[in-house]
Amino acid sequence: MRTMNRETLRHRLLLLLPAVMRLALVAVVAVIAGVLFGAVAGLAVALAGVVLMFLVHLVYLAFLGQWLEQPRLATIPHGVGTWAEIFTRLYKSRRASEASERRLQDNEERFRRTISALPEGILLVDASLQIEWCNPVAEQHLGISLRADQGLRLTNLVRDPAFVAYMTSANFEQPLVFRPLGNPALVLSIGVIEFEPGRSIVISRDITQSERVDAMRRDFVANVSHELRTPLTVVNGFLETLLDARPPLDATRTRHLQLMHEQASRMQRLVEDLLLLSRLESAETPLAEEQVDVPQLVRALESEARALSQGRHEIAAEIERVHLRGSREELRSAFGNLVSNAVRYTPAGGRIRLRWRVADDGALFEVEDSGIGIEPEHIPRLTERFYRVDKSRSRETGGTGLGLAIVKHVLLRHQGRLDVRSRVGQGSVFGAWLPAARLIRVAEPARAAA
Ligand code: ADP
Repeated sequence: MRTMNRETLRHRLLLLLPAVMRLALVAVVAVIAGVLFGAVAGLAVALAGVVLMFLVHLVYLAFLGQWLEQPRLATIPHGVGTWAEIFTRLYKSRRASEASERRLQDNEERFRRTISALPEGILLVDASLQIEWCNPVAEQHLGISLRADQGLRLTNLVRDPAFVAYMTSANFEQPLVFRPLGNPALVLSIGVIEFEPGRSIVISRDITQSERVDAMRRDFVANVSHELRTPLTVVNGFLETLLDARPPLDATRTRHLQLMHEQASRMQRLVEDLLLLSRLESAETPLAEEQVDVPQLVRALESEARALSQGRHEIAAEIERVHLRGSREELRSAFGNLVSNAVRYTPAGGRIRLRWRVADDGALFEVEDSGIGIEPEHIPRLTERFYRVDKSRSRETGGTGLGLAIVKHVLLRHQGRLDVRSRVGQGSVFGAWLPAARLIRVAEPARAAA
């Protein structure tokens, strides 16, 4: 600290030294003139010297002022004495700042070139979705032009309803997959990252190829499942006939037939679940927008749970009078899977609660059980097809391993999500959340007059 002060002081003295020396020179000449020609002459010389110095400073000040209007390195003025030192220092500082400006520009240029070379479209937008910058891939994906559209609102340029709804929602957890209206052969996956308050990066990825492969896989699974459906129905039908045969078959054969019937039924359920999943995944299946009487649905599921449990569990339901806009069949399938899982993964004597209530800017269908629970590392993977924590238990209880994948897809189609909380050995809560926009409140039924 002290050395810095001393250094600064030395610098200042160095700067003032020529001016002080000139003043001293004027003083010496004035004294000599005074001695030789009298006091008046001495004073006149001193005055003339000071005025001259003042005028010189004025001229340099004018130069400085003029230069500061356009401070370029090439036009920096030359000076003498203190001004030479001042201009040299200005020159050095200007040169340093021009070099750092150039470095900054080079870095920015390199950064833009790097981003431009990415195979993804990158677009910077502000809080009101006005385009700040984008790379050529984003221009190509979204059919915009940086030169013409910079500063315009992105949603005024890309008007696909799904895109506009996604960009104006605050939920970017899942990417949006869509086909731009202007180029329906292209399939884009859009993601948004807010990198500082009010500024976001929109990333567009061309997933046409992987979508095509995915569609082929989906079609293949759907076709195979479809082809398996009829033979399985026939096999199952004949097995049932044989099981009901009169007079009954002997015990060993009956046991074998029962096992065949169980496995054939499991295959049938698998085929049905696979078909349902491929229908849910297909963009061609539009979502039915019916008014779904969820209270009635939950009551029906409660009775189904009782039938499945056969008295082994204590089952209860709490239901609010709210209906939903969506697909009755899909919601029934999703909620039904959660309920049947609760029964299947809760040992006898356990408790199962179904709840349908308004919550978190939407509504929640919750299934709480006091069952075996799930270890935390499995929870993020539960909705993957055929992911099972305990394979044998899933099979024993007739699971297909597709139940939660179906739940996830149904909820996605309804702009909802699945939340899972669980403690091993204590139980789980599976919550299917649906957004407020889908809720239909119904009036309380008029109470019968007393
Ligand atoms: P499955 O047909 O095997 O039940 P799901 O997709 O419905 O397939 O569930 C995936 C896995 O999640 C199950 O195999 C099971 O391990 C676990 N699981 C689902 N629900 C529960 C629950 N209520 N309690 C404990 N584990 C569960």
